[in-house]
Amino acid sequence: MISIIVSVYNEEQGLRAFYTETTKWLAQLSEPYGIWFVNDGSTDKSSEVLSELLEQDREHVRVITFSRNFGHEAAMTAGLDYADGDILIFMDADLQHPPALIPEIVMKMQEGYDVISMVRTRNETAGLIKNITSGAFYRLINHMSDIHLEPAASDFFAIDRKAAMVLRKNYRETVRFLRGYVQNIGFRKTTIDYEAAPRTAGESHYSLRKLWRFSMDTIICFSNLPLKLGIYAGLFSALLGVLLIIYTLFTRGGAPSGYATIIIVLCFMFAMLFVVVGVIGEYISVIFNELKDRPIYIISDIEGTAHEEET
Ligand code: UDP
Ligand code: MG
Repeated sequence: MISIIVSVYNEEQGLRAFYTETTKWLAQLSEPYGIWFVNDGSTDKSSEVLSELLEQDREHVRVITFSRNFGHEAAMTAGLDYADGDILIFMDADLQHPPALIPEIVMKMQEGYDVISMVRTRNETAGLIKNITSGAFYRLINHMSDIHLEPAASDFFAIDRKAAMVLRKNYRETVRFLRGYVQNIGFRKTTIDYEAAPRTAGESHYSLRKLWRFSMDTIICFSNLPLKLGIYAGLFSALLGVLLIIYTLFTRGGAPSGYATIIIVLCFMFAMLFVVVGVIGEYISVIFNELKDRPIYIISDIEGTAHEEET
């Protein structure tokens, strides 16, 4: 059984094309399959389109509807939790992840791989700035943490039941990065290259502000290094102090040098202090969130599956 997991947020224009294209490739395989659409609180006509698809293909379409928008990570997590396949394939609804690769993914999984990361060779839609900053970001995070994140890996990946069980049970953080976990749970893994197509319809939901938030969360998720910033800053100021003592002694305790110096040093020190406090604040806010242990998502409806009666 193959489960395709698709997060949907305001994708009314592209959904039908996604369904047709995916079904075309899935139907060629002899395996049974299900397409799990996770409607992440869409405010457009996505839910109507999903109901139509459900009506049209009861055998294969399943729809999980959230009570509101919880974000892409939450949508993928709900798919992970409910999908019942032996092979789970995560995809975006905008056809940027080519369904034509499904047969190859399934073939590799049947060869015995447990985890397949799909690696983007070219992203035409992302601009130059986005490409440069994302490259720098991945270098930074790989440097800072003891895990390895593939820079060009995407939210297009496949896992088998074994890997899915681990992710379902043991990776329940509320500040989450599924793609990162997938690459670091081990098992037999491989990659497949693909060329990201431009979005079929609609536009990207990731603004620069969201990307910044996302980068911060990822660093906090995977690295403790920023927390040690305080120690280094402290050692650095201590060293500075010692140098200043030596300098003062050598100038024989002469008149203290300029007001400007004092102000500059003061500003510099305070800046360092506040950055460190800010970093600690970020971690505390994550700890606070985890402690509250609020649900990652809230489901209002599940259709097209045996779970239907439960809700
Ligand atoms: N998405 C979602 N919830 C959100 C934002 C996006 O489920 O709050 C879905 C969206 O429908 C799409 C996928 O996540 O299927 C990737 O989003 P998008 O294409 O906007 O991101 P990009 O490809 O530009 O990185
Ligand atoms: Mg996209």
